[in-house]
Amino acid sequence: MLKIKNLTVASEGKTIIQDINFRLRPGETHFLMGPNGAGKSTLGLAIMGHPNFKIKQGQVLFRKKNIAKHTTDQRAKMGIFLAFQQPTEFEGVKLLDFIKAGLGALWPRRELHTASVRKNIASTLQSLDMGQDFFDRSLNWGFSGGEKRKSEALQLLTLKPKLAILDEIDSGLDVDSLKAVAKAIVRLKKNSRTSFLVITHHSRIARFLKPDFVHIMVDGRIVKSGDKKLIKRIEQYGYKNI
Ligand code: ADP
Ligand code: MG
Repeated sequence: MLKIKNLTVASEGKTIIQDINFRLRPGETHFLMGPNGAGKSTLGLAIMGHPNFKIKQGQVLFRKKNIAKHTTDQRAKMGIFLAFQQPTEFEGVKLLDFIKAGLGALWPRRELHTASVRKNIASTLQSLDMGQDFFDRSLNWGFSGGEKRKSEALQLLTLKPKLAILDEIDSGLDVDSLKAVAKAIVRLKKNSRTSFLVITHHSRIARFLKPDFVHIMVDGRIVKSGDKKLIKRIEQYGYKNI
């Protein structure tokens, strides 16, 4: 699904990610962990094609295709999704209209009506413990940290990508919200064979999402990869002594 080959990424002349390699197969879940400032979000943004991050060396292959030349919206249409660590607030853009526009971009031949989109995803919103009034609120505008996470999760669950990169989707969620979001993601994982790259600091989401592989990134490099036992070691020894 995703192959990262000798990837080096820079922003404004500064190298942030250095020569990283890994491969994520269909249906697999990989966790990416590491201290603040390691370059985890940069990797997610670079895979998605954020213009601030330049690929200096190496390749990002999505379903065997080098996606370097593809724009962000083309990558999204190919089936890549990124849940932002810091989602932007859009005053005046209704959450429901935004999701409808996303669905319309993915399936241009389908005729979509606002009322039917609302009806189809009402239960998804409910499964995230969000009130139906969120549909008519401006996207992320004035949302609490946890509500922004759920808004990202709602987009993930409705757009059903082939590859989902979740950048700290569990941060700032209370226990019940974490359970609701994680369970909804598990359902997606079961039903659509989505592959996940989950950036996180916490082991609690691993109880639900059960990573096949865990990678540890420090100073822009993957310093260790292993299975879920690595998460316990991090909790015990920290990133410095792993
Ligand atoms: P993480 O998500 O692992 O916490 P980030 O990917 O957000 O880390 O950031 C990695 C490092 O790159 C940080 O130290 C950040 O300050 C730095 N960085 C990001 N953009 C730039 C830039 N334009 N110029 C210089 N440094 C940057
Ligand atoms: Mg980050």
